[in-house]
Amino acid sequence: MSKLPAKEPARRTLLKRTAALSALAITGIAGFTAPSVTYAAAMTREQRDKMTPDQIIESFKQGNMRFREGKMQQHDYVAQKQASQGGQYPAAVILSCIDSRAPAEILLDVGIGETFNARVAGNIQNDDILGSMEFACAVAGAKVVLVMGHTACGAVRGAIDKAELGNLTGLLNKIKPAVERTVFEGDRSGKNDAFVDAVAKTNVVMTIEEIRKNSPVLKKLEEEGKIKIVGSMYHLVGGKVDFLS
Ligand SMILES: [Zn+2]
Repeated sequence: MSKLPAKEPARRTLLKRTAALSALAITGIAGFTAPSVTYAAAMTREQRDKMTPDQIIESFKQGNMRFREGKMQQHDYVAQKQASQGGQYPAAVILSCIDSRAPAEILLDVGIGETFNARVAGNIQNDDILGSMEFACAVAGAKVVLVMGHTACGAVRGAIDKAELGNLTGLLNKIKPAVERTVFEGDRSGKNDAFVDAVAKTNVVMTIEEIRKNSPVLKKLEEEGKIKIVGSMYHLVGGKVDFLS
């Protein structure tokens, strides 16, 4: 949890360098371009506060492009750790699957202190996830709620095939409405990758609907234009994060 406000001597130096180069849109949320190499600094409060939700989403698209092209920023984690140790000003909260192949911060090329991250199999919402998102946005100032599904999701496949195992059964039950709602011609089994991916996309859409329905706090912030709640699908093949709106 964050300590606000925070002293930020290390950040000021970074901010000065960042402002001089004014490369926010080009190099990502808190990045800046140096003559020979691209470094990524920790995000400052000033940087985050002046960005709109749309600009933050655009910076994620740019970050994912860098990831796909193998041109990620050079993250100086030691500097990012030091710059963010007195406080955090993340721009977004991301809800994604636990799948080891879908680490949101890497796919979007962001560093320490730039995003809150909630991960649960099948990127479903529940009261604790909503509470975390409400903290992220209403208390800590994040401006984007990003729900990220992914292709070939084992949790989605398990929900389709009605897998049962301990506590997993209850989790998969939360994905089953997306199975039923997915309009799909052809084999509606977990063996059909196209169907699994179609359900995963429906699941993202339904998770967003549930967030709006079950969190008046986030719904109000969205209606006031202070945050945006958006969905996306990460493609394991190719590495693209497709934004659904
Ligand atoms: Zn998954």
